[in-house]
Amino acid sequence: MHEYSIVMSLMEQCERLAQQHQAQHIEQVELKIGILSGVEPALLAQAFETFKLDTVCHHAKLVMNIQPLVLQCSTCDTQSQVQESTIICPICHSQHTQVIDGEDMMLMQLILET
Ligand SMILES: [Zn+2]
Repeated sequence: MHEYSIVMSLMEQCERLAQQHQAQHIEQVELKIGILSGVEPALLAQAFETFKLDTVCHHAKLVMNIQPLVLQCSTCDTQSQVQESTIICPICHSQHTQVIDGEDMMLMQLILET
């Protein structure tokens, strides 16, 4: 499953950061999940709960912020947030848009316990 490998690299990242900051545990892991990232939040949470037990995250809470798609339209020069997978500008219906946000998944914040 795709989400399992994501969680495994996430845990590695957490272990590294905890070591760098001499933290004993991680209290909270905050993620940004773009709606176009292909990550299924429910599956990710499930994988997190499974994997965290043997890691520095073993009692960490997972917080997921779902990032909507943000399009920059070069026709009407407007930035808009859309909740669906589209590249059409909701204002002027132009296709000359650029995806600014919502495509990636990233670690936003870790709360460490020292
Ligand atoms: Zn537009």
